[in-house]
Amino acid sequence: MEELIGYCSVCGKDIYCRMGFLEGVVQEDKILMCFDCSTNFPSTGTSPPSLPADSI
Ligand SMILES: [Zn+2]
Repeated sequence: MEELIGYCSVCGKDIYCRMGFLEGVVQEDKILMCFDCSTNFPSTGTSPPSLPADSI
């Protein structure tokens, strides 16, 4: 049982929820990131440079 939650905002990787376990992180501003990218861009309030929230 798996559900496609969305795509990593940095690398575009599919992020699934499997057996209730999300294969990534959702930041406060609803930005999805895979674990690899969340390591590169810690969720300390900074948005990943590839997706500036202010420009939406
Ligand atoms: Zn990623």
